[in-house]
Amino acid sequence: MSDTCLFCRIAANEIPATVVHETGTTLAFRDIGPKAPVHVLVITKEHHANVGELVAASPALAADLLAAAGAVARAEGLTGQGYRVIFNTGPYAGQEVEHVHAHVVGGAPLGPMLAR
Ligand code: AMP
Ligand code: ZN
Repeated sequence: MSDTCLFCRIAANEIPATVVHETGTTLAFRDIGPKAPVHVLVITKEHHANVGELVAASPALAADLLAAAGAVARAEGLTGQGYRVIFNTGPYAGQEVEHVHAHVVGGAPLGPMLAR
C-alpha cells in the first residue's frame, strides 16, 4: 500500500468509488470519466505499477485480475455483443495511474482499436 497512490487509496477505502465487484485480491469500480456506456476499472488490491510488473511478480494474482475482469463483463451484460479489456502501460500508452488496472469497456460499438 502506497500513501500517495490513488488506486491504493481507493482499495483502502480512503477515497470513495462506485464498487461493482470485489474479491479477496481485486476490486472493480466505475471509471470517473467513462469513455463508453460501461467503463469499469479492475485493480489488484496489492500495488503493482503495471501489468508487466504484476505478472512478473505474481502470475496467480494476474490470473485473479483477468478472472475479475471476466466476471465484471458478465455482470455488466457485455459478453453477448463483446467488449474490450485494456491495460495501458507506460507513457506511449498514456498510462496516468501507475497502479495496474484493466479497463473493461463496452455497451456500444467501440470503433477502431487505435485512434490514428
Ligand atoms: P490510465 O490512463 O490507463 O492510467 O487510466 C486511468 C483511469 O483512471 C482514467 O480512465 C481515469 O478516468 C480514471 N480515474 C482517475 N481517477 C479516478 C477515480 N478517483 N475514480 C475512478 N476512476 C478514476
Ligand atoms: Zn497503488
